[in-house]
Amino acid sequence: MPVQPIRLFGDPVLRTPAVEVTDFDRELHRLVADLADTMLDEGGAGLAAPQIGVGLRVFVYHCDGFSGHLVNPTFDVVGEEMQDGEEGCLSIPGLAWDCRRHLHVVARGWNMHGDPVEIEGSQMLARCVQHEVDHLDGVLFVDRLDPQTRKRALKEIREAPWFGDRPPTVKVSPHPLLGKAR
Ligand SMILES: [Zn+2]
Repeated sequence: MPVQPIRLFGDPVLRTPAVEVTDFDRELHRLVADLADTMLDEGGAGLAAPQIGVGLRVFVYHCDGFSGHLVNPTFDVVGEEMQDGEEGCLSIPGLAWDCRRHLHVVARGWNMHGDPVEIEGSQMLARCVQHEVDHLDGVLFVDRLDPQTRKRALKEIREAPWFGDRPPTVKVSPHPLLGKAR
């Protein structure tokens, strides 16, 4: 399955809330495979579909010894404990800042075959779930930084060598030409 180019901060697809998956079909299987391959190729801990330009509620994760994917995910916070720690994003390459997150969450959703899935995690895995579900709502982790850090982050992003690329459109299907004559 092909590794896909990652959409970067500034691309409107990252600010567009993704829509629920309704068809658990071969296209979804391909999307999950593309996401997993791209995440592993980039060495990321997680990757959400909007980050490869697909506006569907799907993410993959690979952290704390766990890996998998979740379709139409939601999560509940467990307990009141918070964690502070460094967070980064493949859509904001080369940069990281401290971000406050819930320490423990339970995420629920479906796998690509339509079976219900539940993931319980703390630390990195909990951070990853919160970060990826944010992506599906058009939220980036810079939105969650304290005001001072956020200001510094936005400055560093504006100064980053990759900033300013302005690519296209939101696709609802990852493979719009599949089965069609060109
Ligand atoms: Zn991210």
